[in-house]
Amino acid sequence: MTEPVVAVLGKGRVPADTPILRADDLGVLRGDGVFETIHVRGGKPWLLDEHLARMARSAARLELDLPDRGAMAELAATAYQGWPGEVEGALRLVCTRGAEGGGPATVFATLSPIAPTVRAARRDGVVVATAALGVAATARAEAPWLLGGVKALSYAVNMASQRWAYARRLDDVLWVSSDGYALEAPTSTLVWLAGEALCTVPVETGVLPGTTVRWLFDHAAALGLDTAERMVRPAELVTAGGAWLASSVRGVVPIRELDGLALPASPHTPAIQQLLGHPTPPPGRSAKAERS
Ligand code: PLP
Repeated sequence: MTEPVVAVLGKGRVPADTPILRADDLGVLRGDGVFETIHVRGGKPWLLDEHLARMARSAARLELDLPDRGAMAELAATAYQGWPGEVEGALRLVCTRGAEGGGPATVFATLSPIAPTVRAARRDGVVVATAALGVAATARAEAPWLLGGVKALSYAVNMASQRWAYARRLDDVLWVSSDGYALEAPTSTLVWLAGEALCTVPVETGVLPGTTVRWLFDHAAALGLDTAERMVRPAELVTAGGAWLASSVRGVVPIRELDGLALPASPHTPAIQQLLGHPTPPPGRSAKAERS
């Protein structure tokens, strides 16, 4: 069993149970801060530069003083140094606004092994239901305070959405805008195949600009596929040539079922997964069985 790692900016590694936040830290009082979750494979973070760049953009949107790129990269390295190459990990970088009365940002990193359910989903796919997000697809572009495209610490709605799914023995939800467009899942980007084009939802809708989908699209030509950004209604996904949820730690997992309707298994899934390099576990217990 690989023990979780915790590293604090300016202090280095500390035992994982060390208190590192003040009780009045705005990160816990308000969810006021930003974070990134990065896949660690072969002992190294994947797409670290892209995650650091997005974290800087998120912090700028929150007018938050994130330490510079070099300091954040060093903090990440402090956490992943010595991590066993054979253990897939999730590296979190966190920056909160710090104490309520003012003061420096609170900045730390955690690194822990990823759950077997996450790995199993790459092989087994996920069963998903649509769920209302309650905003129109254009709303967040016109309302910057809704923080579209920002990876802020306030993930209570995202986690509640997933708990709603788990309570119904589903694996995840796909958020849908009030005008009926599919947007994203609470922790992943929607990808689908239309003809010979891998498609995803435009970031103008306020979905998070995913690092995984960006990398996949930049390398899609290697799979003989085009790429496109477009709007889609959930019903169209059922007849698409395949649909997936993509995220750093999860990788690209096929949506097996949407709102009780089976989606076709895409012949492209193995090649996509191989291209991204997230290991797919051998046949075994289903993701759902592992959770129950
Ligand atoms: N959308 C949301 C809301 C997310 O939280 C995430 C994961 O961080 C993603 C999409 C996928 O982003 P990435 O591929 O950078 O992990």
